[in-house]
Amino acid sequence: MIKLKIIVQKYGGTSVSTPEKRELIIDRVVEARKKGFQVAVVVSAMGRNGDPYATDTLKSLVLQEYPDVPVRELDLIMSCGEIISATVLAASLGNKGIVSRALTGLQAGFVTDGCYSEAEVVDCRPEKVLDSLDKGEVPVITGFQGMDSSGELNTLGRGGSDTTAVILGAALKAEMVEIYTDVSGIMTADPVILKEARVIEQITYGEVCQLAYEGAKVIHPRAVEVAMRNNINVVVRSPGDSAPGTLITGESSMLDGSYSTRGRRAVTGIAHSVNLVQFLIEFDNPDSLKELEIFQQIGEANVNIDLIGVFPNVKAFTVKEEHCAKVEEILRSLGLTYRIETDCAKVSVVGVGMHSIPGVMAKVVRALNQQNIKILQSGDSNITISLLVKKNDLNRAVKVLHDTFNLDNIQNVD
Ligand code: ADP
Ligand code: MG
Repeated sequence: MIKLKIIVQKYGGTSVSTPEKRELIIDRVVEARKKGFQVAVVVSAMGRNGDPYATDTLKSLVLQEYPDVPVRELDLIMSCGEIISATVLAASLGNKGIVSRALTGLQAGFVTDGCYSEAEVVDCRPEKVLDSLDKGEVPVITGFQGMDSSGELNTLGRGGSDTTAVILGAALKAEMVEIYTDVSGIMTADPVILKEARVIEQITYGEVCQLAYEGAKVIHPRAVEVAMRNNINVVVRSPGDSAPGTLITGESSMLDGSYSTRGRRAVTGIAHSVNLVQFLIEFDNPDSLKELEIFQQIGEANVNIDLIGVFPNVKAFTVKEEHCAKVEEILRSLGLTYRIETDCAKVSVVGVGMHSIPGVMAKVVRALNQQNIKILQSGDSNITISLLVKKNDLNRAVKVLHDTFNLDNIQNVD
């Protein structure tokens, strides 16, 4: 018997939410099967917060009355949304004569590390999925969940269904993982804040990972890491779109075997994140022991700091707004004087070509200066430059950087 190639399709919350939208999913499944693929589907919970079966709604059902509910029980209720949507989608497929089987994360063989609400998948043994595929069915697997070695249910944290899909793709040795969402692909910026944002046709794992870590929630960074490690092609697109969406691949596929890096784009996309607070701690007399103590205590309090600037008389860093009070408490207990800048946002330009193209930072600074946008702090890594600005300036900053790097033009080479 000829073994068919496997494709994994993941459908996000908005894509499974109504009968009309589920029709589009059925079309995509049928299309892939016509092309000769076996299709395994991964689903998220239906809709967004406020919708009856969305994860946040289910969670608040218990939290509203019982705020001290144990994390174990919270994970249990949070995993129900995916079970509901997998069952409904399997029924929709069945109704169209496509034999389908809904499987929970546990049934699909996802083994997690026991960390409630933020679990990592340590193994995937998809025998039941393979069995279903071998029978000619379409297995529909719940995203975002697995079972640890002691039989406890764990959820994977926000965006976890993306990770489920890619891990399943790796375990099934799939040809491709398709992530279906409410936008037409990975775009040059979040279309919610920049209407000129354009779909990127092809992008490297490294760039998407960086965009995702810097705030582009279109795909979870952990999912991209798994895809990169297992060399799986991932496509991001919209179920109602005939357009091909974005192909995420390794850098070697991007360069098309060419030896030259000339003509590459410096910047591929722009990400942003909001609700940040900047801390500035001034030292009249540098005190290295106290400096060490600051960073140590903040780390022990499980607070992530970003954009760290360490100069002899001033230390600067940013934290998420929700961690501000905790950091203030630590600084006060150390007897330090500090300033805080609230309502900050971070804008990050990302591009694999930037490290071989000089002058990118100068271009960024000039562009923001010309718009009178104050740069509160900056930071950079190999393929990313991040700028901290006031939240009020964020949309203008994204727009001017998008224009500066010609991102609305498909041939945006520097
Ligand atoms: P899903 O429920 O399908 O997982 P998400 O809401 O997690 O969908 O992700 C899709 C959203 O990501 C889009 O609606 C868009 O606003 C946002 N987004 C942020 N940055 C980008 C980007 N660079 N490209 C595309 N979408 C982006
Ligand atoms: Mg998502």
